[in-house]
Amino acid sequence: MEKMKMAKRFQGKVAIVTASTQGIGFGIAERLGLEGASVVVSSRKQKNVDEAVVKLKARGIEVIGVVCHVSNGQQRKNLINQTIEKFGKIDVVVSNAAANPSVDSILQTKESVLDKLWDINVKSSILLLQDAAPHLQKGSSVVLISSIAGYQPQSSMAMYGVTKTALLGLTKALAAEMAPDTRVNCVAPGFVPTHFAEYITSNDGVVSSVSSLKLSPPSSLTLAVN
Ligand code: NAP
Repeated sequence: MEKMKMAKRFQGKVAIVTASTQGIGFGIAERLGLEGASVVVSSRKQKNVDEAVVKLKARGIEVIGVVCHVSNGQQRKNLINQTIEKFGKIDVVVSNAAANPSVDSILQTKESVLDKLWDINVKSSILLLQDAAPHLQKGSSVVLISSIAGYQPQSSMAMYGVTKTALLGLTKALAAEMAPDTRVNCVAPGFVPTHFAEYITSNDGVVSSVSSLKLSPPSSLTLAVN
């Protein structure tokens, strides 16, 4: 994936990607940057943010890094403010952060865990977009990261799957609300071997329930609304 050979579909665009210091988020930030976007990467840990910025700069990408735990309101506002201070606008927001803190069945899941799942996997996307909305350009794009588990929540990660189902509805509702200036789409990846997925590969119960998922191609689904 050499920079010189890339199309430049995002030249002059400014993209924020949450939870983007490794895994899928980092991959998205890197690709947007290689296609010409100025990129803002973020995650909870300063060290991870710094390392991601160094890696992306080494690929010739214009990038800043901001610490942002997506369920922290002050840090969300700071993410938007620093983006505007540095680049003056926002063209792309990829809301990628998620937690999967429990293997309990839904009826056994503690209220505190339900709150955390809702907070990080659904509510933080809405609140981040509320802060970003005044700065979104005509022709801008929002992408929510759901999961194949959103289409078919598996017993070993059922509530996680349900929060990802909620993102499918959120995508449709926001697409209507933010049209015509902003497109809202959703990507539902299949299994991707990241740190997050180690939870799946290191847990036999989860492995067997996930392997029963019908991952016939395409293994990642895109809910394109507009
Ligand atoms: P990952 O490799 O574990 O990366 C997680 C990233 O998120 C790290 O940069 C981490 O950095 C950051 N992060 C974690 N919690 C955060 C929070 N509360 N606020 C801000 N940043 C946070 O994860 P991944 O597999 O790429 O998953 C990314 C997205 O894809 C998630 O929405 C997940 O549900 C979805 N997904 C993944 C798979 C898969 O198989 N991997 C399949 C379907 C969907 P810090 O530790 O510094 O915060």
